[in-house]
Amino acid sequence: MAGETQSDCLFCKIVAGEVPATIVRESETTVAFRDINPQAPTHVLVIPKAHYPDAASLAEGAPEIAADVLREAGRVAADEKVDGIGYRVVFNTGSGAGQTVWHAHAHVLGGRGLNWPPG
Ligand code: IMP
Repeated sequence: MAGETQSDCLFCKIVAGEVPATIVRESETTVAFRDINPQAPTHVLVIPKAHYPDAASLAEGAPEIAADVLREAGRVAADEKVDGIGYRVVFNTGSGAGQTVWHAHAHVLGGRGLNWPPG
């Protein structure tokens, strides 16, 4: 059920400390950790601690936590010093858009040139 920890969810396991991750920030409602397969010099995932399968369901079910995720994404960018030149916050939503983990997550990408439109 949305908002509740899912025993078969990789990112719920990271929140619980059952799967190791390089955590760079944590708040009451969110965790930020380095992507295991970085696509840019800075590639950090910001997730809600509560389980929502994607960004849209997070925003519908817990808009205050969706706002926390966005705030933490900005703080990650500042911590990583990529906010000056510019960075990207991406929520892949649906398999056709490349979503592979069904726990809402913001990719924070920076530290290199980022083309538009993305692939
Ligand atoms: P998606 O493809 O938008 O769903 O993003 C999922 C991201 O999770 C990918 O960029 C993966 O590299 C990343 N990922 C998968 N497993 C782990 C892990 O155990 N730790 C950190 N990142 C992970």
